[in-house]
Amino acid sequence: MNSQRQASARVTAGVSFAARLSFDGISHSYPSGAETLREVSLAAEPGEVLCLLGPSGSGKTTLLRIAAGIETQTAGRIVLNDRLIAGPGVFLPPEQRSIGLVFQDFALFPHLSILDNVRFGLTALSADEARHEAMIALERVGLETYAAAYPHVLSGGEQQRVALARALAPRPAVLLMDEPFSGLDSRLKDTVRAETLDILRQSRATAIVVTHDAEEAMRMGDRIALLKDGRLVQVGAAEDLYQNPADLFVAGFFSELNEFSGKVAGGAVETPLGRFPAPKLTDGQEAVVAVRLSGFQINQQGGAIPARLVSRRFLGVVEFLELAVPGADRHVRARVRCGNLEPGVRDVWIDIVPADVLVFANPARLIDPDPRHSFERSGESA
Ligand code: ADP
Ligand code: MG
Repeated sequence: MNSQRQASARVTAGVSFAARLSFDGISHSYPSGAETLREVSLAAEPGEVLCLLGPSGSGKTTLLRIAAGIETQTAGRIVLNDRLIAGPGVFLPPEQRSIGLVFQDFALFPHLSILDNVRFGLTALSADEARHEAMIALERVGLETYAAAYPHVLSGGEQQRVALARALAPRPAVLLMDEPFSGLDSRLKDTVRAETLDILRQSRATAIVVTHDAEEAMRMGDRIALLKDGRLVQVGAAEDLYQNPADLFVAGFFSELNEFSGKVAGGAVETPLGRFPAPKLTDGQEAVVAVRLSGFQINQQGGAIPARLVSRRFLGVVEFLELAVPGADRHVRARVRCGNLEPGVRDVWIDIVPADVLVFANPARLIDPDPRHSFERSGESA
């Protein structure tokens, strides 16, 4: 579509039209029997970066493979811009889907030059055209000078960019990336993440990026979709998931928590850290009060709750505290700014920041005691 423009102008132009990819009631089981995905409905909107977040084994890779056409769902439909690409009676092969996939391990061919790696998927073009398009993709990721070299001369971050260039070369409408930064050492990660985000923005492709790291999802995603045990638990902007988590699992995925259980009485739950309102629960219901580690103000002069400092760890900007609180059977953990407490202090006072307190129905006390049915429970308070 940019054929009249010069190559240099094309490098920053969009790879493709912006597309919408939707998963409609996707379920999946491997032949071995276990259910990996259950009724996942989700859409990546045109041009957005959607992060698919979840613990290991939650079904993220399987969902990407189904979208790319290298795995088939057992129920549900995949729709790209109103076109059914996989569903009852329909299965478009991967090369006809306009969906690019970057594998977790980059999957570069060691015996092919970097240029040949990038033009590998451009089989529909003549050799000259394929070389031209591959060079454009390499320029996009800033590696055109390495075209004739082989993958082993590149750093991990550069190899990741070659894999990205290979996926972008056919100008896909949607780009899927499976844990693209997990193989990089932590010093490289920040830079490569920022570069990748720039390239995705410039290409204007819709992207789904898989990660198991909540902070990475918050940094990269316009929106985040959280999976647990093959079920979609919550979808929204980072702020939504952080501030209004659907359940304790979501809250715990985004921040470390101190948890207290108790029964709702008079519209509130009593804990060793005080009484917290439970407006969404009814009296008599079992509840969990979760207090983020950031939710503590600690001082030596006075406050709501007396506590004894059990341990302190200096972490740079903040220090990590463990506190003994009357009535709490475990030590309470807190993160506070360094420099507020004198060295050697033992007896302190705690005040709780209300925004860092979340109250949920206690899932462990719901009717079904069978752990295999944790699917149902995870969405309960959504
Ligand atoms: P994630 O990418 O979130 O770690 P996966 O989609 O890889 O999760 O896996 C989801 C579940 O499916 C896991 O329980 C995993 O053990 C199982 N699984 C993955 N691949 C296969 C396979 N080829 N055969 C059978 N089970 C599989
Ligand atoms: Mg995976």
